[in-house]
Amino acid sequence: MLTQQLDNLAWLPQYSIRISPKARRVILKVSMQKGLEIVLPRRYQVREAFTFIQAKKIWIEKNVNLLKAYKPASNLLILPDELNFRAYQENWKIHYISAIKPPTLLSRPGNELVIYGDIREIKSCQTLIKQWLHEKAFIFLGNHLQQLSKQYGFIYKKHTIRDQKTRWGSCSAKGHIHLNFRLIFLEPEVTRHILLHELCHTIHLNHSIRFWRLLAKYDENWQLHRQSSSRIENLIPAWLMNTKN
Ligand SMILES: [Zn+2]
Repeated sequence: MLTQQLDNLAWLPQYSIRISPKARRVILKVSMQKGLEIVLPRRYQVREAFTFIQAKKIWIEKNVNLLKAYKPASNLLILPDELNFRAYQENWKIHYISAIKPPTLLSRPGNELVIYGDIREIKSCQTLIKQWLHEKAFIFLGNHLQQLSKQYGFIYKKHTIRDQKTRWGSCSAKGHIHLNFRLIFLEPEVTRHILLHELCHTIHLNHSIRFWRLLAKYDENWQLHRQSSSRIENLIPAWLMNTKN
């Protein structure tokens, strides 16, 4: 057994082992969520894996120490380990791999994000995730706006994604719709409600009775959804609540 052999290594910090059908060789990961993780391919040779881990002693010690040095100051300085786009039923896992270089982000198949680099740079990591969220939101919300416009006959010029603290969206007289990227975290019917709200502004650029009547045509429960949209703090990840990078 590999674990029996590993237990003889006094220097080895606490670890977990995972068998991955995708792995082709032994992979070592150090993350805030899981500490040291040893990923093994399905068919691995115990002796080979053991030798590999022994050879990585310096790397393991260095990276585990880097993690220990890190202490989150508050909720806002936490790095998320997953992102749940409720509105579009999509869930992403985030892995952090520590290395001595500025952090970079890459996405992998199977809805996985990897942040590779100095993960003590929490702000930089958060900025990377936020930039990526903006791109995702642009596509998701853009497709949704187009689908609703086609379905109900609205015409708007373009949409942009903004990092607004207090507004979900806005619509200009020119038909430019600005949307908050956090909309992808809300319940589907609430996100739909907010998109329809902005689309109705392409016809009535105010909150008159005629505006609300139009909105009610496409969203019967608009009053309920409007209420929900003002009480969503619980759905937005804490680290995204007050950050403006
Ligand atoms: Zn409005």
